[in-house]
Amino acid sequence: MASSSDSFSTGQFMCCMPRQFMCFLHSFTKFLTAPTGRVFIRRVLAIRRYSLIFWAVMACFLASSTVMAEEADQPQGRLSENVERVVIDPGHGGEDIGVTGPAGLTESRLTLALARQLKIVLEDELGVRVFLTRTGDENPSLYERTALVNRVRGHIFISLHAGGAAQRTRSGFGVFFQDYSLQKGLANRVSLKRPAPGQPVEWALAQGPYLISSRRLAGEISQAMSDVLRVKSREVMGAPLVVLAGAARPAVLVEVGYLTNPEEERRLLSQAYRDAVIRALVQGIDSYQAWVSNRLQEGVG
Ligand SMILES: [Zn+2]
Repeated sequence: MASSSDSFSTGQFMCCMPRQFMCFLHSFTKFLTAPTGRVFIRRVLAIRRYSLIFWAVMACFLASSTVMAEEADQPQGRLSENVERVVIDPGHGGEDIGVTGPAGLTESRLTLALARQLKIVLEDELGVRVFLTRTGDENPSLYERTALVNRVRGHIFISLHAGGAAQRTRSGFGVFFQDYSLQKGLANRVSLKRPAPGQPVEWALAQGPYLISSRRLAGEISQAMSDVLRVKSREVMGAPLVVLAGAARPAVLVEVGYLTNPEEERRLLSQAYRDAVIRALVQGIDSYQAWVSNRLQEGVG
């Protein structure tokens, strides 16, 4: 489990060496244009034999650093790119089987089967690259699951689950996004502003700047599931979810149905219904992608 005291630097997770190099070039350009930098240039130029080499190096450097500085100035995780990398998290696994239906279908088995199928279809139909937080019957920690989307610089994170309730009549899918309002000590510290490059971000608050996008993603998936599955849906809901909190990317949790409801379990056992769930998820992601593209065209970050 991720504790709220864990913190990471967005730079540490999301910057690779070339980006650090760009930041260095950007800082060096600032230094050269500052008064101390101008004194440095005058001193180098005073040594005649170095002046030609100096100007040659400067010409190459300035030509490349203009482009690099622009990239280095991009706030981390900004919606500056279309959805190209998707991280799917099949909930539970290993000893933790999650909810079990009356006919024996376990949540861990169901989410893994759905995630594997979703990966194939997303890669085929939307041409995106898909990463799974687990590919077999193991149980990575919630921290490790979320860390994957930050590490691979994924564009969205979707955690797959099924619902369980004491009342067997409970049914329907649900889509959740992170909600800090119920978390004492966090609610008043959440920032919707994207951190500057390299600025450390507290793990539990990393989702803050992505709440609007996450909510949109949740809405698109919920709408698509309503359209395709034609089953009772719960509203898109906010909840304090550890697996979403540390994601410095748009992130949602989808409960595909209540396994404790015999009728829903029966449906979720059938491949035809699973195909429909996958179709709905793909449609939801595709609609979210369209929203991102529109925002990019309108210049909204
Ligand atoms: Zn679950």
